[in-house]
Amino acid sequence: MIVAANLKTNLTRQETLEYVETLSNTNIAQGTKVLVFPATSSLNSFNTSLTIGAQNAYPTKNGAFTGEIGLVHLQEFNIKSILLGHSERRHILGETQEKIVEKFNFFKEQGFEIVYCVGERLQEREAGLEATLAYIQKQYEGIDTSYEKLTVAYEPVWAIGTGLVPTLVDIETIHSELKKLSSAPLLYGGSVKLNNVKDIYNVPNVDGVLVGSAALEVKDFSAMVEIANSISK
Ligand code: PEP
Repeated sequence: MIVAANLKTNLTRQETLEYVETLSNTNIAQGTKVLVFPATSSLNSFNTSLTIGAQNAYPTKNGAFTGEIGLVHLQEFNIKSILLGHSERRHILGETQEKIVEKFNFFKEQGFEIVYCVGERLQEREAGLEATLAYIQKQYEGIDTSYEKLTVAYEPVWAIGTGLVPTLVDIETIHSELKKLSSAPLLYGGSVKLNNVKDIYNVPNVDGVLVGSAALEVKDFSAMVEIANSISK
């Protein structure tokens, strides 16, 4: 199982150091992989065997891109994993598929592990399965779905941070369809909590979870890792 924490715009540098230090004491079984995506200004040289990734970066080594960070800023901390296509970047920050593809290709070229997020909005969900899949399919356009360091995260936009979760059957249905588009590991994300994570891990074609708000409490996220340790798939 892959267990990933997206800390978003939370936790200061000091809080993140403490978070990673505490989480690093969690037992991680052989089949479990843990990733943490801290806020950009909280990236650091962590003394940990956890995988630390960036939530975002500009597709450049360095240059004139005010407010952005580039490859050199990630290399400074030996960061080789990145989250791309997150719904907050697509829908709040206006990142286009074209820009996401540019980032994907740049970081692929650099050999980064990429966690690539896809997911439908409420309007597609309400329009039915066909509309949902058609919308998600567009988010695969331009993406090398056979990239060996790719992990996909299915995150319905309407489930992120809302406490709403699709039924387990719905997760299974979408995941089995998405596995036809890419055989990469496929995470589920969107209101994953300590009380629903085990059921989600056990859904066929779910290879792990991407957790936002419930990951902010390190005790809870660590417990999710421990539950993942006990799942054999
Ligand atoms: C996310 O934004 O990636 C996410 C899954 O958030 P939450 O767990 O808060 O729904």
